[in-house]
Amino acid sequence: NNLVIAVDGPAGAGKSTIAKIVAEKLNINYIDTGAMYRAITYKCLENKVDINNEEEVKKIAKNTNIDFKDNNIYLDGKIINEEIRTMKVSNNVSNVAKIKEVRYLMVDVQREIGKRNSVILDGRDIGSYVFPNAHYKFFLIATPQERGSRRHRELIEKGYEVTIDEIINDIIKRDEIDSNREFAPLVKATDAIEIDTTGKSINEVVELVVSKINI
Ligand code: C5P
Repeated sequence: NNLVIAVDGPAGAGKSTIAKIVAEKLNINYIDTGAMYRAITYKCLENKVDINNEEEVKKIAKNTNIDFKDNNIYLDGKIINEEIRTMKVSNNVSNVAKIKEVRYLMVDVQREIGKRNSVILDGRDIGSYVFPNAHYKFFLIATPQERGSRRHRELIEKGYEVTIDEIINDIIKRDEIDSNREFAPLVKATDAIEIDTTGKSINEVVELVVSKINI
């Protein structure tokens, strides 16, 4: 049977950093589900689709192919790892991700991947909705200040020009939309292990996660 590990939590809590390393250690696949919602958002922006026009956004989502290979995300066959990290995409993605039909499409892809491979997925609704029977579920949290400064460091390293305030505003706004949407909101699954990563090193969190997993 395939191993499925869910890593959920608010923006910037360290989910993708941790999940990527754990995937390498366990030699399983890593899927960044946030990248999928970002990819749809990017395509909408590129096509000048109004994000508040649900019908148009749904149409785009239905006619889009999203794929992962070697930790690259492909949008209709093209790698878009960098394009989906802009503030413009960040500021719009939660309004795309709250559309139920968009979620149905992304969740189908995620479940398909989990059917075929052992996988660790990071997101918002993996343990609560996408894989309620996941073998292991983690919920990572950290203070907004810490989440903001981590995300800021990451983006500056990649050459994006943003201020810490812009980032903290963005993550607080996204958390609010993600937590309050009607369908499959950001929520800690009742059986998830919560880890507060504030003040912990990457290594400490990785070790903590790995220590809970028996394979
Ligand atoms: O993980 P990341 O911060 O890149 O996710 C971007 C956005 O995608 C989130 O703020 C949320 O709106 C959406 N998302 C989601 N469900 C997931 C993963 C991400 O709604 N499983």
